[in-house]
Amino acid sequence: MTRSAQATRGRSSRTVGRFAPSPSGSLHIGNLRTALAAWALARRQGGRFLLRMEDLTTGAEPVAESEQISDLALLGIDFDGPLVRQSQRRGRYDEVLADLLKRGLIYECFCTRREIRDATRAPHGPIDAYPGICADLSDTARRELLEQGRRPALRVRCGGQRAEFVDRMLGDMSGIADDFVVRRGDGLYAYNFAVVIDDADFGINQVVRGDDLVDSTPRQIALADLLGFPRPEYVHIPLVVGPDGERLSKRHGAVGLHEILANGIPIGRIRARLARSLGAEYSGQDLDPDRIPPLLNVENIPRDPWVLDPDLIEW
Ligand code: GLU
Repeated sequence: MTRSAQATRGRSSRTVGRFAPSPSGSLHIGNLRTALAAWALARRQGGRFLLRMEDLTTGAEPVAESEQISDLALLGIDFDGPLVRQSQRRGRYDEVLADLLKRGLIYECFCTRREIRDATRAPHGPIDAYPGICADLSDTARRELLEQGRRPALRVRCGGQRAEFVDRMLGDMSGIADDFVVRRGDGLYAYNFAVVIDDADFGINQVVRGDDLVDSTPRQIALADLLGFPRPEYVHIPLVVGPDGERLSKRHGAVGLHEILANGIPIGRIRARLARSLGAEYSGQDLDPDRIPPLLNVENIPRDPWVLDPDLIEW
């Protein structure tokens, strides 16, 4: 860890939150709602809020980055510190990987997806839990696989440990952490690895994100524990779904901020509607950004997904 990261982490218990989109496409109103919640929950306690682009797999010039930043700014979501891009942090990930390697906690995995799927599933693990096929490969087997031209991914030995955590939305949670991939066969670092290092290095102590990521949390906690990093507080927010109950997407209609604005809905009205959908008691038509943080708190955020029909919603 760098000295400045250590200094960040050592600071008081002031909330440090973040929004961490992947710049692979436009943010829709559901993603923006989660961002608004994360921002408001950090800001309401006078906390800091950081923006991180999770661009490890999207290439050097992610098309959607500037559009995402301008959408967030339109809503009034502001950030502290410079924008962090995971693509610029590979040296740091190499360093952590080297440490885990030295501790004997990393092994090569030659399995294809299919081989994993076909192997017996761990009875209590996540649905795609890795059953440990390559955990103890002999040197001969390893050499043969390399000779076949297979490029191994790297997995961290979590040994199927149970990770327990309290989610402020979902309550007591627990799940098994399998030996998950930290670096893919093509050399790219995996989300579950980078996210843990980034959150720790930047002193993030409050993770507010969509509840589609709750199943990844035991893995992330297990890794944080192995690395001696403090665990952040978790707030997993139910996603926004379309009228068919499926995760909101373009096919449901006008779900992008610009499309909604182009339909003549003022930005203040969109803010008010999003804040209400997150449990804010606010009956005014328009809402300025600085009024949002005091209106939101975890206890009032609905525990069920927000069902949104883009054609019928009254902003
Ligand atoms: N980059 C992830 C996403 O866009 C979010 C990661 C996180 O919040 O931990 O779904």
